[in-house]
Amino acid sequence: MSSIIPGAMLGLLGGGQLGRMFTMAAQSIGYRVTVLDPAEECPAGSIAERHLCADYHDPTALHELSTTCAGVTTEFENVPADALQFLEQHCVVSPPARSVSIAQNRMLEKQFLAANGFSVAPFLAIKNNDDLSAEIETIFFPGILKVSQFGYDGKGQVRINASRELPNAFASLQQQPCVLEQLLPLGCEISVIVARGFDGEISLFPIAENQHVHGILDMSIVPARIPAEIAQQARKMAAEVAIKLDYCGVLCIEFFVLTDGRLLINEIAPRPHNSGHYTLDACITSQFEQQVRILCRLPQGSTALLTPVVMVNLLGDLWQSGEPAWSKVLRNPNAKLHLYGKCGARPGRKMGHFTVLADTVEQALQQAEAIKVSLKNR
Ligand code: ADP
Ligand code: MG
Repeated sequence: MSSIIPGAMLGLLGGGQLGRMFTMAAQSIGYRVTVLDPAEECPAGSIAERHLCADYHDPTALHELSTTCAGVTTEFENVPADALQFLEQHCVVSPPARSVSIAQNRMLEKQFLAANGFSVAPFLAIKNNDDLSAEIETIFFPGILKVSQFGYDGKGQVRINASRELPNAFASLQQQPCVLEQLLPLGCEISVIVARGFDGEISLFPIAENQHVHGILDMSIVPARIPAEIAQQARKMAAEVAIKLDYCGVLCIEFFVLTDGRLLINEIAPRPHNSGHYTLDACITSQFEQQVRILCRLPQGSTALLTPVVMVNLLGDLWQSGEPAWSKVLRNPNAKLHLYGKCGARPGRKMGHFTVLADTVEQALQQAEAIKVSLKNR
């Protein structure tokens, strides 16, 4: 099949910050973008050529996308897989509806990974109260109860010490279908962004070491400070997941590195990912540009890292006493500031990020930490 030529209109389901960065990458190669997002104001909608303000199921909006766009992609995994399925019948779609339907459901995702021989945390399906009355093995405690769908940034999760706490925890999650997972001793967390083209060509971005605070990504350190064997194993597993999923597009695989050195897959995200934002400033090709290239059947770009980098998320908490003083970031000439144009800073809301580029990862980390501290101390 031939490529989608610059100048063409691309469709995007979801108008958040990932969509905004995809739109910028698409526009810089000369494409135009139509965003479908039910929110009147959204980070991608405000910069795209068109914004269809409608529900993701809306038949008129989906018809409009399918007839005016040469290719369609998505920026968040909770987009209804049936919307993607509909679009697949009319235009090029990346990622495929089937992969998205697996990755957007924690239970299906874990079953898929386990069935294909990938190591994951011991898990158990908790679909209803009957599942709670059965005796639950002690290996699951302490554990984490996670909703199967629509959880993100640590939301929809409850930590549990013993089985007697399960009924209350399940009730607090509105008795939605859940996965109970053993709480693991984490040495660190890493992620691999893998890109796979319609022709099966695979490229892997450098591994990020991710630090979370209250379940939300706080910082990504690249390259990850892990032994070479673990890095190699993670790259191999990431490529295998993309192949087994028959994936097309950019995919993120989150891993746990346990204190005993074992490598487990935590979860997969069928889209560019927060832990890959560093690629905008520190790689020859960003994760967003790679998604544009794959969707448009252009050759993939090099994922080579130009310099060590640390990415720090900017959450709404920082806005408590008004707009932060951005000079604290920008006065470091090796720092890059990215703001998503969101109005309404709320605690925990991702408003932007910054990166620091340096000759060594230690220097990047030290400078990023210093900027973080200065932003908090007004
Ligand atoms: P989300 O979809 O919200 O990102 P995750 O399953 O990735 O959900 O969980 C968020 C964070 O919580 C993880 O990055 C990790 O720090 C911690 N976490 C999740 N599951 C476990 C586990 N089984 N053991 C230890 N920590 C966990
Ligand atoms: Mg996660």
